[in-house]
Amino acid sequence: MGAGGGAGPLRVLLDMDGVLADFEGAVLRDFARRFPAEPRVELAARRGFSVREQYRSLRDDLGDKVASVYESPGFFLGLDPIPGALEAVQEMIHMKDTEVFICTSPLRKYEHCVLEKYQWVEKHLGPEFVERMILTRDKTVVSADLLFDDKDTITGVEPSPRWEHVLFTCCHNRHIPLPAPRRRLLSWHDDWKGILDSKRRQ
Ligand SMILES: [Mg+2]
Repeated sequence: MGAGGGAGPLRVLLDMDGVLADFEGAVLRDFARRFPAEPRVELAARRGFSVREQYRSLRDDLGDKVASVYESPGFFLGLDPIPGALEAVQEMIHMKDTEVFICTSPLRKYEHCVLEKYQWVEKHLGPEFVERMILTRDKTVVSADLLFDDKDTITGVEPSPRWEHVLFTCCHNRHIPLPAPRRRLLSWHDDWKGILDSKRRQ
C-alpha cells in the first residue's frame, strides 16, 4: 500500500535519535565525563522517553545538568550511528518501490541541534540524503506507511496518522508492554525487511 492508500511505493519514515543515531549512549558518556561526581542513570536503568525527567527525579538540578550535555555544540554531530543502521538505510533506499525519509524532531533549544542533524546525515549517509530530511515537532501531520521511532507514544494535531508506528527498541522503552497489533523492531539486525514486506501486502 502506498501512503495514499492505493498501489504505489511504500513510504518509510525513520526517526533519527535512538533509531539511526545513539543519543542515549552519548548522553551517558558525556554526562559522566562532564559531571564525574554526580549520580547518573545507567542505560539499563533508563525509563521513560525523557532523559531530562529521569535525571530530575534523582535530584532537581540534575535535569538541567543533563540537558546542558545534549544542548552543547558538537553533541548531535558527534553521535555514533546505531549498530546496523547505516547499512540498513543504504539497503532500504535501493529497494524497489520504496521511499525513505528521515523524520526527526529537533530540540526546542534548537541552536546546535538543527544544523548538526543535517551535518550528521551528510557525514554518515551522504549529501543526497540531506534531501530526504523532514524536521518537525509534529510527526502526525506527515503522511507515510511506516514510521520507525523509539518514542513509545507519538501524538500531535492529527488524531489518526497515516503511518503505522513501529516501536524501535531503545534502553528507555524495552520494558514497555506493547498491546497488539503494535509492533517492535528490536534492532537493525532484526527483521525490518519482513515489516516492510508485510506492509506492502496490506
Ligand atoms: Mg527518537
